[in-house]
Amino acid sequence: MFSKESESGMKRVFALMLCFGIMFTATTYSINAEYKTSKNSSVKYLESSLGIEIPNIDTRSIHSMKELNSDQERYLVDIGYTQGKIIKMDFGDYVKIYESKKVTDEDIELYIITFPELANKKDMLKNWTHSDYQKYVDKSNDKRFGPNESEVIRLKEKGITILDAKTLLKEYKEYDKIIEADSEVLKEKLEGKYKSKIKYLEKMNQMEEEKNKSPLTVIFDKINLTSYALDYDDIPSTRQIHYDKVYTFAGYRYYNDGFHVDTNTSDPLARAYQESNAAHLYRLLCDNSNASPYFTNMWGTYSFSSDEGNGACHEGIDMVLPSGSKVVKSVSPPQYVNYPYTKKDDVIRAETGLIAVYSEYYSRTFYYLHGTINQVSVGDEVKLSDSLFTESNINTKDAHLHFAVELNYSMSTDTANEDNLDSASPYFRLDTLIY
Ligand SMILES: [Zn+2]
Repeated sequence: MFSKESESGMKRVFALMLCFGIMFTATTYSINAEYKTSKNSSVKYLESSLGIEIPNIDTRSIHSMKELNSDQERYLVDIGYTQGKIIKMDFGDYVKIYESKKVTDEDIELYIITFPELANKKDMLKNWTHSDYQKYVDKSNDKRFGPNESEVIRLKEKGITILDAKTLLKEYKEYDKIIEADSEVLKEKLEGKYKSKIKYLEKMNQMEEEKNKSPLTVIFDKINLTSYALDYDDIPSTRQIHYDKVYTFAGYRYYNDGFHVDTNTSDPLARAYQESNAAHLYRLLCDNSNASPYFTNMWGTYSFSSDEGNGACHEGIDMVLPSGSKVVKSVSPPQYVNYPYTKKDDVIRAETGLIAVYSEYYSRTFYYLHGTINQVSVGDEVKLSDSLFTESNINTKDAHLHFAVELNYSMSTDTANEDNLDSASPYFRLDTLIY
C-alpha cells in the first residue's frame, strides 16, 4: 500500500513537470520542429478527451524503426527490391510498401476465409491494396465492437473521443461503464496513455538517431507510466520491448493492444494468415461455418485477464462462442490428406475445466480450458466436431474458451505471469486438412 501511494505522488510531480514542458512547446509548435530531421516529422495528432492538455499523438502515423525480420526481407526481395536498398529499410518502410501493393489471388483466398461475405465480391477485391483490406478489418471490428449510436452520443457529451473509448474498453468491458465512470479517474488513465504514446514516439526517434547518428533533441524524458496495463500504451515501458503495437485483428474485440514480438502479428502479411486461420479455428470449435469470430485475447497479447494475472503474455486464444449452443467441439483432423486415417488424437488430460488432446498428426497438444460437463475421458479418441465440454467461467471471471497449443506431447500448458511466449502458435496450418 505504502509504495503504491508514494508512486502516485511521484506521478503527480511528473505530471506537473510534463504539463510545464507541453505548455512551453505547444506555444512554439516545437514538438514537430524538434524532430524535423526524423521520419516522424509529420506525425499526426488526435483530438484529446476531457480537455487534456498533453498532446494526443496518433501512433498510427508514427514510423516504426524496428528492424526487418527474414520473412519481411524475403517479401521485399520477391517484389523486386535489391539487397542494397533493403539493408537501409526498417519495419515502417516495409509496412508502407506492403500496404500500397495490390492484393494477390492468395491474399483474396485468405480474406474470404476471414470474411465469408467477401466471397461474391472478388472483382472488387482484385482492385484492393493491402491498405484497403486493413480498412475493411477496422470497419468490420468497429461495427461489431465499437460503440453504438446512443453510446457515441453519450461519449461525446462526456467529452471522451471514440478512439479513447475503444482503448478503455479492455478495462471497462462495456461502453456504458466508461460513460458512468468518474471523469477524473478517466482523465488520469488517459493522461497515462497519452504520455506513453509520446514515449513511444521518443523511442522510435532515438532508434532513428542511433541509426543515422544525427543529433536529435529529446524533450520528454521523465514519463511515469501507470502501473497496470490494459492496452499497448499502458504496458510498463521496461516491458514494451517484448510487445509490438497492433491496432486491429479481425474478430478481436480490443483495439491497440500489445502482441508479443515472437508472434509476428504486427506484420500485416503474417497477420492476414493468422486472421484467416483463427477465423477457421473458431468455426471448427463451435461447429458453425457461418459464425463470426469473437476473440477476447489473442496469442501473445499483453493480458490482464483473471486467468493470467496482472500483465502477462497470453498463451493461446480466448474466445466467446456464438450464443445458442456453447458446446466446444474438437478441432482434431477429420482425415489426413493423401493417406488413410491411421493416426489417433487421444485425450491425455480431462479434469475440471480442462481437456487436453494430443494430436499425432500435428505432433501437438491442444488445450481447451474453462469448460464444464466434460463429455470425454482420458484415453478417448476424438475426431473433428466431437463434443468436448460446454463453455463456462470455471477458473476464470467471464465465460470463455481458452484454446492453446503446445509442441509435442505436453501434459501442461503455461499460464505464468511473465513476458515469455512459451506456447506454440494456435494459428496452425488448417489447409493441410480436408473439410
Ligand atoms: Zn486465456
